[in-house]
Amino acid sequence: MRPVRVLIAKAGLDGHDRGALVIAQALRDQGMEVIYTGLRQSPLQIALAAIQEDVDVVGLSSLSGAHRSLFPKVIEALRESGAGDIPVIGGGVIPPEDIPFLEEKGIRKIFTSGASTQLLADYIKELVRGTQKKMESPEKISHIGIAVNSIEQSLPFYLDVLGLKLEKVEEVPDEKVKVAFLTIGESRLELLEALDETSPVHRFLEKKGEGIHHIALEVADINERVVQYKRQGIRMISDKPVSGAGNSQIAFLHPKAANGVLIELSEHPKEGDQ
Ligand code: ZN
Repeated sequence: MRPVRVLIAKAGLDGHDRGALVIAQALRDQGMEVIYTGLRQSPLQIALAAIQEDVDVVGLSSLSGAHRSLFPKVIEALRESGAGDIPVIGGGVIPPEDIPFLEEKGIRKIFTSGASTQLLADYIKELVRGTQKKMESPEKISHIGIAVNSIEQSLPFYLDVLGLKLEKVEEVPDEKVKVAFLTIGESRLELLEALDETSPVHRFLEKKGEGIHHIALEVADINERVVQYKRQGIRMISDKPVSGAGNSQIAFLHPKAANGVLIELSEHPKEGDQ
């Protein structure tokens, strides 16, 4: 199999290419052949270079703020030169609010400056080999976990004042907690009470008192997701999913990964599964 060939291009007048050079080197380290256009290339020059170098993918870098006009022009130039099938990705200093616009204009994916080069390299390889399997968005908020001193004492507020319905109360030995699930639409609140002093919830209550403890996202591919997150350098609380309430598999991301919020991934067996 021939190595993946990538054209890294700086569009427009932006005169800084340190970031582009770092990316080029990182992709070379991953075994790719990287051609760098140099600074100040016009969209047409970039398209012609992509064709001449027979690359598999074009990576555009922009720091100048001109990405909104330049990136779509590169797509256009490729199409007009009969090379509209070469995928184009972009990166650099790009405000998140511009991402939907650029993707609509045909840029396959925008990598913001915080993205790891490993993630970028993986994405390119999968894109080129046609095996690209997009990590789906989590399905919904499974539940919001609330740490309480006592489930029994907390329930009247949720049941009688808010009028929520108690779905079930169960112990989760792996997490050393007792939990009560209250249904609210298709989501839930999960009240968490520590089973003993070694429980993470006990430590949470000692440190912060009662309050929101975690947000749980329902996913369909927890094992794959944990592997991929770890690959991207995301800190996980445990290396592998563990057993959660209701036959679910759960895994926690470290709060440092998510702006101080503890995020739980949870996967419930689908109906029909055994
Ligand atoms: Zn939970």
